[in-house]
Amino acid sequence: MFEFDTIAAISTPPGEGAIAIVRLSGEEAISIANRVFHSPGEKNLLEVPSHTIHYGHLQEVESGEVVEEVMLSVMKGPKTFTREDVVEINCHGGIVTVSRVLQLILRNGARMAEPGEFTKRAFLNGRIDLSQAEAVMDLIRAKTDRAMNVALSQMDGKLSRLIGDLRQALVEVLAQVEVNIDYPEYDDVEEMTIPLMLEKSNWVKSEIEKLLQTSSQGKILREGLSTVILGRPNVGKSSLLNSLVQENKAIVTDVAGTTRDIIEEYVNVRGVPLRLVDTAGIRETEDIVERIGVERSRQVLKEADLILFVVNFNQALTEEDLRLFETVKEMNYIVVVNKTDLDQQIDLNEVHQLAKGHRVITTSILQEEGIDALEDAIAAMFFEGTIDAGDATYVSNTRHIALLHQALERISDAINAAEADVPVDMIQIDVTRTWEILGEIVGDTMQDSLLNQLFSQFCLGK
Ligand code: GDP
Ligand code: ZN
Repeated sequence: MFEFDTIAAISTPPGEGAIAIVRLSGEEAISIANRVFHSPGEKNLLEVPSHTIHYGHLQEVESGEVVEEVMLSVMKGPKTFTREDVVEINCHGGIVTVSRVLQLILRNGARMAEPGEFTKRAFLNGRIDLSQAEAVMDLIRAKTDRAMNVALSQMDGKLSRLIGDLRQALVEVLAQVEVNIDYPEYDDVEEMTIPLMLEKSNWVKSEIEKLLQTSSQGKILREGLSTVILGRPNVGKSSLLNSLVQENKAIVTDVAGTTRDIIEEYVNVRGVPLRLVDTAGIRETEDIVERIGVERSRQVLKEADLILFVVNFNQALTEEDLRLFETVKEMNYIVVVNKTDLDQQIDLNEVHQLAKGHRVITTSILQEEGIDALEDAIAAMFFEGTIDAGDATYVSNTRHIALLHQALERISDAINAAEADVPVDMIQIDVTRTWEILGEIVGDTMQDSLLNQLFSQFCLGK
């Protein structure tokens, strides 16, 4: 186990809460707390059993001035999150009180934790592996229940276990290679070892491919489905956006709502996080194409995971509608035929024909009709009943995805080489590299600087 100084931070989210927690971790955690803590019976925290909670007051050491009434938990390592001694101080909420408590702790020997430092210690002390540490980060940022489940099962070590199995198989391949190198003169050794190597390598390859298949869903769960509302002016695009935002609890995000001319609203539709992409002014003025120019809007559309394509029930399809059908034809889209409270002028058969099997939903946003059906359609489209965050291993982390792609390339090279009768020591290089790359996912072959960069992305106090 590593030796570290004692760190402290407020570990509850910023803002006013009923309680807030100041967390300390490190060798001195308990003695620092003991210096400022006074219970009715003047308990000595250094002598209390581990994992116990104590009521009392925090006081200034010199003046004895009472700073705060607290409940204080003492947890001795290694059965703690960081594996170090941990003290958690529950105090009344409110920024002022909490920071007074933190200041008191810092004045008495603890150091302010860097962002992610608690999790980093958990990792360095072997409590969790890197993919689990990243899952903690995802958990903090999780935008919906489903995303939360993915993060939780990753933290559970599901991904780590699978990666471990893959690396074990690669070690077995390498063992076969060794046999081959050691007995090059025997032809039948090669005949026996190559098929075994191929079998195991192909298994590793197919497992990596399976993981990568989950990655688009994983990314969606984490970052929200990028959803563009498209349609010509006045069909009800802004009304649809507002209704989706109002009906569904908007998701709180740390991403600023407005970045120059793009507005993003996060909403949770039936467990699917949507990032509704709009352009500033789209509400007041015209459609997306006109507003941000053909090039930009093409780009926005191309990056969209889902298009909500709105047409008007009260008008026959126009040239522009037909052009938009052409624009979206390669994309994931749902046709929303809006304004069903007005007279029908549109030919719905024509709409269905143009939609070529894509879902068509009729709505009257004005009268709040059809929105539920639209939400069902959105959810169905991405979860078709086949995806259950509970029992699949998902990859949603961009770094993991990039590494899996690299690993896939390397193991494919190895397989091709083995099939082409390339000397085994060449195969050995590719297999070893695959093993290393997979190791980076769980943090086994990671350099320090990369580690620091990773952990600094965490929220303070975690
Ligand atoms: P956008 O230009 O596509 O964003 O359209 P808006 O959302 O600004 O809506 C244009 C007009 O249509 C507004 O006056 C809305 O109140 C109206 N509108 C939107 N949805 C409906 C609907 O379902 N029925 C009716 N009758 N009017 C609607
Ligand atoms: Zn509008």
